[in-house]
Formats: sequence, structure tokens, C-alpha cells
Amino acid sequence: MSEMKLLVVEDDRSVLNLIATTLKIHGYSFVTAMTGKEAVSLCASHHPDLILLDLGLPDMDGIDVIRTVRTWSGAMIIIISARGEDSDKILALDSGADDYITKPFSIDELLARIRAASRRMKFVETLNDENSVFINGDLKIDYASNLVYVKDKEIHLTPIEYKLLCLLARNAGKVLTHSYIIDKIWGSGVDTDIVSLRVYMTSLRKKIRGEEDFIRTHIGIGYQMIRK
Ligand code: CA
Repeated sequence: MSEMKLLVVEDDRSVLNLIATTLKIHGYSFVTAMTGKEAVSLCASHHPDLILLDLGLPDMDGIDVIRTVRTWSGAMIIIISARGEDSDKILALDSGADDYITKPFSIDELLARIRAASRRMKFVETLNDENSVFINGDLKIDYASNLVYVKDKEIHLTPIEYKLLCLLARNAGKVLTHSYIIDKIWGSGVDTDIVSLRVYMTSLRKKIRGEEDFIRTHIGIGYQMIRK
């Protein structure tokens, strides 16, 4: 776990200290930045695997930090922000963030999100190509034959449900916004609304739900496959 490198970007010293102390206690290695410029430069020099990013920074907006860093870095980005509006979260996620935590947050939640990010990181490293098999707990997708199994039992999905599942699986752990999903599944400019998406997702979830639920709903924002 401790081989993961983090970058913490936070201009509020008390919050920064809280996060830093928590990371230190749990053996994570990390660097910290209090401005957007510092964050971008540390990201370039230290190649962090995970960035914990505050959005309200003194010199530049966190959204611009995401956009800048995303042009060259594949680091996971978790937003930690007091901006609780859905539109803020959606903008951050669509700009390239992976997940978000709303302030005030609990230390347990922060640690859980970091562990989830670490699992996703390891998982992405083991991903091969289109022909590989996706396994997440009891869920298995055989991309070569387009077959889906839950606990070794074959699940019959419609083509749209299968595309939705594959999209979520390829981005396991990442929160995908409604507009992102609609664009990826139906293409841009297609008039598919969130209500239709919800109908497809409800049916998909029902079919693949075993003892555990694989898909988390972020009300007003989108969906996320939970990395088991
Ligand atoms: Ca701030």
C-alpha cells in the first residue's frame, strides 16, 4: 500500500495538516501543495499515483488544475471540496477527476476512498486488452465472447445493457456522469435523456445483482462501478 505516491493539494492549513497527519499515520508517502501552480509543478516532477485536490485554491481553480494535469498525467484524482452542488461535482468529473468527497469529510471516508483508489490502480495495471476477462468479485465479463457471468451463472443482457456494463467496468471505481455515459453509449447529439438511462441502469442492476451490488448510484450525478 505504501508504494502509492500521493499529492495533497489544499490551501487551508488546518485541513492540510489533518490529511497529512492521517496519511503519515497510515504509512503513505506524499507531497503537499498549497497553490494550483505548485500542484501542477509537483505533479510533473513527482508523478503521483493519486491526487487529493481541493477546488478552491488561491491562484487558480482546481478545475483548471485537473485540465492541465490531465493533458499528460494518468494519476487518479479525488476532489475534496466544500462545493457541494451537483453541477460542481459533474464539472470536476467531466474534466477528468475520478471521485469526490464533500467537506466536511470523515477520516474514515478519506481512507476508504484512498484504499479504493489503490485497488483500482492495481486493477488497471493488470488490465490487458480487448480480449481480456474482467473480474470484479462475483462479476465476470468475457470481452471476447461478450458473455457476462455472476457467480459463474451466465446473465443475459441486451446490447445496450452490455455496453453500459462494459463502460462502467472499464472505468471501475470512477464516477461517470450521466452526460458522459449517454455520450459514450448513444453518441453525442443523440436525444437520450437521463430518465431513459435510469431505466436501462435499473434493468442492468437487477440482472447483475447477486449477494453484492456492483453499481453505485450518485443521485443527480451519475453511476460508479464499485471495485470489489
Ligand atoms: Ca480551499
